[in-house]
Amino acid sequence: MNKETTKIVKRLLASPQKIVVVGHKNPDGDAVGSCLGLSFFLNRLGHRADVIMPNDFPDFLKWLPGVDDIIIHEKEQDRSIKTITEASVIFTLDFNSLDRIGDMQQFLEDSDANFVMIDHHQQPADYAIATYSDVSMSSTSEMVYHFMEALDELTALCMEVSTQLYTGIMTDTGSFRFSSTTATTHRVVAHLIEMGADSAKIHQNVYDTNSPDRMKLLGVALNNLHILKEYNTAYITLTQNELDTNNFKKGDTEGFVNYALSVQGVEFAVIFIENKQENIVKISFRSKNNFSVNDFARNHYNGGGHINAAGGKSSQSLNKTITEFISILPRYKDELTHAS
Ligand code: 5GP
Ligand code: MN
Repeated sequence: MNKETTKIVKRLLASPQKIVVVGHKNPDGDAVGSCLGLSFFLNRLGHRADVIMPNDFPDFLKWLPGVDDIIIHEKEQDRSIKTITEASVIFTLDFNSLDRIGDMQQFLEDSDANFVMIDHHQQPADYAIATYSDVSMSSTSEMVYHFMEALDELTALCMEVSTQLYTGIMTDTGSFRFSSTTATTHRVVAHLIEMGADSAKIHQNVYDTNSPDRMKLLGVALNNLHILKEYNTAYITLTQNELDTNNFKKGDTEGFVNYALSVQGVEFAVIFIENKQENIVKISFRSKNNFSVNDFARNHYNGGGHINAAGGKSSQSLNKTITEFISILPRYKDELTHAS
C-alpha cells in the first residue's frame, strides 16, 4: 500500500469508528477470509467493525472464526441497512465495482461514509477515498496482511486473523499453485502459520468436507466435459435439472472448472451452469499462461476478474450460450494455440 493511501487510512482510523466491511456477491474463501480478518483486526484496534455479505456463502467456510456474526444482507435486510446507515467508514473487499454486490449497491451508494477499497481485480472503480488496488496480488487476504503491515500493526496478528487470512490466500491461489503466488505470498503465509494458522487443519476443513451429493455432481460434470482440441479449450456444462437431481447446494460447483483446465494441452477452460431462478447461465473462465479470460469475460459475457480466472453470465438458454461460445472461438485461435 503506498504512502499516500496509508496516510489517508491512518487519518480515517485515528479515532474509534463504526465500520462496515463488505465482500462481493456469492462470497468465496478470499472474500470471507479477508473481510473477517480485517474486521477482527479493526476491532482489536478499538473500532466497531461488522461484516456484511450480499448473500450466503458455502458451508466449507462456515467453520471460520467469526462467521456466525456475519450479516447476510439477503436474509437480514433491516439489520444490514441499519448497520450500513450508521457506519462512518465502509471497507469494500475483493471486488472492483459496486455492481458486484447485487441489491446492496443502492444502500452503499446512499451512504455518507468514507469508502476504502482493498482489491486485486483489474480496472477498479473510483468510489473510494482510499483505494488499495493491486492486480499482481495473490488475493485480497494477502493485501489485508500488507495493509496491517503498512499501518505498523502486524503485532495485532492473532490466531483468528491468521486463520482467516490463510484461508483466503489458500483458496484464491489454489493452495499456492497459481502464478499469482509469489515469494512474498509464501513469506506472508509462513508468518500466518507462526501466528497460529494450522495449515493441515485449514486444508481439511475446506477441502475434505465434501458431501456425497457434491461428489456425484462432480461425476456428472466430468461426464459433461467437452474438449475442443483445435482451440486448446475444454468446457463443462451443468443443467438446472442435473443440479436439482444431485441436491445442489451453494459452493458445490466451486473448483469444478479446474478439472477442465487440468487436461493436458488445455489452455482455456470454461464451466456453464444453468440458473433457472435467475434466468441466466453463470459462467466461470480459467486459463493458463497469457490468455486473458478477464478480457474474454468482459468482451462477451458482461463479466471480468483476473487474467487467469474470471466470470460472467449469459441470458440466453444453455444450448444457445454454448453454440455462441463455440462460434466466438475461431477469433481467438491464434492466441489460444500460441500461448506459452
Ligand atoms: P468464479 O469463476 O470463481 O466465480 O470467479 C473468478 C473470478 O472472476 C473472481 O475473482 C470473481 O470475483 C470474478 N467474477 C466472477 N463472476 C464475475 C462477474 O459476473 N463479473 C465480474 N466483473 N467478475 C466476476
Ligand atoms: Mn480474491
